[in-house]
Amino acid sequence: MKPLINSLSNQKNSNSIILTTFNDFSNWARLSSLWPLLYGTSCCFIEFASSIGSRFDFDRYGLVPRSSPRQADLIITAGTVTMKMAPSLVRLYEQMPEPKYVIAMGACTITGGMFSTDSYSTVRGVDKLIPVDIYLPGCPPKPEAIIDAIIKLRKKVAQETYKDKYKLKQGERYLTLNHK
Ligand code: SF4
Repeated sequence: MKPLINSLSNQKNSNSIILTTFNDFSNWARLSSLWPLLYGTSCCFIEFASSIGSRFDFDRYGLVPRSSPRQADLIITAGTVTMKMAPSLVRLYEQMPEPKYVIAMGACTITGGMFSTDSYSTVRGVDKLIPVDIYLPGCPPKPEAIIDAIIKLRKKVAQETYKDKYKLKQGERYLTLNHK
């Protein structure tokens, strides 16, 4: 009986080693090819666009901007999110394949910014709509700050387990637009 238990336990260990190695490999591949969706609603997007250009060249991190959410695994919410735009943003997010990530860029996206007190039409925090992985404050954040946020996200992806990657449970809802 004891040899059988030992053999099963060895098998379990060897499976864990294989799974862990595969997980590390898959994390390395994903962090080296994060594809952001081209999404921008106002002035923050100007900085996002300049970070794509040759001066800051964020392609060197493997980031290839995509126009279709079905080809993207990262959304950088650059700019003010209005109530009218909110359902579209949620829909775009839902169309992205798992595992997927969100960087909330700029004061307007994170808290509503200058519209956070007196506006009936602005979402005061994009995390009321979709789950945010990295908050990138500023008005607007510079391209260097965007690259810093990307580096932080890459570190997060490198440490993920299988469980982390599929964090969205079926039926879980993020669309809550109540301002309190
Ligand atoms: Fe524009 Fe500043 Fe708001 Fe960004 S945070 S969308 S730069 S007002």
